[in-house]
Amino acid sequence: MSYDPSNIFAKILRGEIPSKPVYESDHVLAFPDIAPRAPVHVLIIPKGAYVSAQDFSEKASPAEKAAFFDAIGAIAQQFGIADSGYRLIANTGAHGHQEVPHFHLHLIGGRALGSMLP
Ligand code: 5GP
Repeated sequence: MSYDPSNIFAKILRGEIPSKPVYESDHVLAFPDIAPRAPVHVLIIPKGAYVSAQDFSEKASPAEKAAFFDAIGAIAQQFGIADSGYRLIANTGAHGHQEVPHFHLHLIGGRALGSMLP
């Protein structure tokens, strides 16, 4: 799948759609999901144009990859859920029900989430 620059997260990155960032670095932006499924529901996105984890893995620089993983722990600490725990989800492609074709992680927590494996 090629990258479509008209996707919603690309518009957020360009400032065309408002968001309220909770974390930002040179390579990463994170903001609350518009339809939160838990008390903490943050979307973590690379600033580069990547469709999926595979695309990110193949094309992103080491600095971009490191920054992306650094963001996870920092945001969990920021929201006070590093110790209680949380879930990371990367919906991918059609069967993964990916709605926005810009690679992202859902960081979800703030309550016991139960099992979610299909
Ligand atoms: P996925 O692509 O992993 O299925 O999920 C995309 C997520 O983006 C959904 O959870 C949806 O609620 C969220 N979302 C869609 N549009 C917007 C938006 O304009 N702003 C924000 N903050 N989240 C959005």
